[in-house]
Amino acid sequence: ENFDDMGLRENLLRGIYAYGFEKPSAIQQRGIVPFCKGLDVIQQAQSGTGKTATFCSGVLQQLDYGLVECQALLLAPTRELAQQIEKVMRALGDYLGVKVRACVGGISVRIDQRVLLGGVHAVVGTPGRVLDVLRRRYLLPDHIKMFVLDEADEMLSRGFTDQIYDIFQLLPSGVQVGLFSATMPPEALEITKKFMNRPVRILV
Ligand code: AMP
Repeated sequence: ENFDDMGLRENLLRGIYAYGFEKPSAIQQRGIVPFCKGLDVIQQAQSGTGKTATFCSGVLQQLDYGLVECQALLLAPTRELAQQIEKVMRALGDYLGVKVRACVGGISVRIDQRVLLGGVHAVVGTPGRVLDVLRRRYLLPDHIKMFVLDEADEMLSRGFTDQIYDIFQLLPSGVQVGLFSATMPPEALEITKKFMNRPVRILV
């Protein structure tokens, strides 16, 4: 299967090809279409498999670009990874005009405030800072319909469990959840049970 066969927006395909991807990896072949359909997806995959482009494509496909409100929230365990995801979102979403902000610790929350209140389509961040901007109401959750947890096992082992639960409580009910994890420890399974609705499970 090719990227062309996935029913993706023309301007998303342009971004994917301009980024240098020619053919989808195994995880992309299996994961992009279910995510684009709005299904909850659990993907057990190591880094290096192409998981970032899987969820970025799924998010970019489903955003309403005419609505400059945050519709997708993506969490990652480290600042570096969050910023890396932000770059991929911007690159793949270049022709869609996506507005993305990485909200991570160590960067002035004043700048987050200005950018978030100025309007974004999606936010990528680490759990602590994301919870902070949600509580300060710089990030309004009302329009969030997609929630991605990247390296979920890593986030849980770094002690972000409470923050992740707190963030879930602030999101609209029925939010689509994508959970990406190399391993499935009991804490990750617990999240899938509590917060996911009949998830599609993909093992790569
Ligand atoms: P990830 O697993 O998301 O960390 O991606 C691992 C590496 O594979 C990154 O450098 C990506 O840019 C690259 N990559 C992901 N998908 C593709 C693809 N379909 N074709 C070529 N390279 C890819």
